[in-house]
Amino acid sequence: MHEFSVISSIVELVKGEMGKHDNLNFVKEIVLEVGELSFLSHDALRFGFRALVENEPDIKDDALTIIPIQAKVKCRRCDYEGAMKAGETEEYHIAIPQFSCPECNGPIDVLHGKECVVRNLVLDLEDE
Ligand SMILES: [Zn+2]
Repeated sequence: MHEFSVISSIVELVKGEMGKHDNLNFVKEIVLEVGELSFLSHDALRFGFRALVENEPDIKDDALTIIPIQAKVKCRRCDYEGAMKAGETEEYHIAIPQFSCPECNGPIDVLHGKECVVRNLVLDLEDE
């Protein structure tokens, strides 16, 4: 499962950050931005997260907040810039973004939407 390896590296990153604070109480919130073109399942990310922090008393198991990031594309032909056109495949009954310009069907470049990044990390620190 791809999501598990992604969320594992996020948790490792958070632990690295936790190690820099010796007055840390616990991790309150991890805000993760997930682009729609990363094709990561939010449920699978949450599930993996809970499994990973089960034995981590310093990370709350509901600390993960996922912010979906809409894809933004730019057309190489007509300079269209904006959302992608989502097509639906009958076979899978899921929306698959089409990799062509909604205006002219030309080739597109993806500006946003592939990312999976920690946008914010909220730590509860003890007052010194
Ligand atoms: Zn176009």
